[in-house]
Amino acid sequence: AKARGTGRLEVFDDEASHRSIDRLDLRSDLSEALDRGQLSVVYQPMVELKSNTIRSFEALARWRHPERGNVPPDEFIPLAEETGAIVPIGAWVLDQACRQLAAWQREFPEARLTMGVNISAVQLERGHGDLLDVIRSAGVNPSDIWLEVTEHMDTAEDISSQVSALREAGVHFALDDFGMSYSSLAYLQRFPVEGLKIDRAFVAAMNEDQNNGRGIVRAIMAVADSLSMKAFAEGIETQAQLDALLDLGCGFGQGYLLSPPLSVERSTDALRAQRDR
Ligand code: C2E
Ligand code: CA
Ligand code: CA
Ligand code: CA
Repeated sequence: AKARGTGRLEVFDDEASHRSIDRLDLRSDLSEALDRGQLSVVYQPMVELKSNTIRSFEALARWRHPERGNVPPDEFIPLAEETGAIVPIGAWVLDQACRQLAAWQREFPEARLTMGVNISAVQLERGHGDLLDVIRSAGVNPSDIWLEVTEHMDTAEDISSQVSALREAGVHFALDDFGMSYSSLAYLQRFPVEGLKIDRAFVAAMNEDQNNGRGIVRAIMAVADSLSMKAFAEGIETQAQLDALLDLGCGFGQGYLLSPPLSVERSTDALRAQRDR
């Protein structure tokens, strides 16, 4: 509409302006994606490394655009954050994930599953919906839910009332992409969490001699340990990385080596296979 028209005026030759028009189109398409049933959720197993057992899943949003096909979340989530569409989209993802967890807990009680859901800072600001309501209406125990936040939380305003209600109900928080920002440690002081997700950049560097990969992962695990937090490794792609993490005593991890994100059906299959093994 109006924004789109403005974008079109800036058109032509240079690639940057094409990209910005692209973003304007995507932006308006995104506002309708949820209502049009174009969004879905996939689930990536979080595995107890020693026993190779699924302990949790991370819910990840997917957008199938009618013309462009799959738009990666690294593209559409930032757009949704800019426009505010992340508030209804994020609540919908949380609702789907909680209902799915409830169903899996009924079918696989022995697995004692939990669920991780990525949350944008704006979703926690005052007046932007009540995440605890979503969790409770889905019929799951709030203490089985891990909300994954990033340091962008820093820029959020007045998040404390929702966060304290969530904490009091037993919801856990984990800091995503831990270590990628110079302020990671300072952040922990202001926003205590129960878990750290070790960014996959560090996991990827573990088996290289350069870049201190192993030492950094060891140091992050020591931080987690001394603050009584759990450490979760992300992005495990090779057996060598898995072996190195096991050596360091890392308890939990996820990555393509263990499992990519899966549809509901394939996740259920994986849980069945695990129960029957
Ligand atoms: P993230 O929270 O750090 O999620 C992990 C990303 O790494 C996922 O990408 C996952 O598919 C990918 N991944 C998993 N294992 C491996 C591996 O072994 N190697 C590599 N290279 N990648 C791996 P995805 O699904 O494309 O999501 C990208 C980001 O988008 C997420 O990063 C998260 O920040 C954001 N996101 C996704 N869904 C949501 C959502 O519902 N809400 C919010 N706020 N953010 C979301
Ligand atoms: Ca995450
Ligand atoms: Ca991450
Ligand atoms: Ca990330």
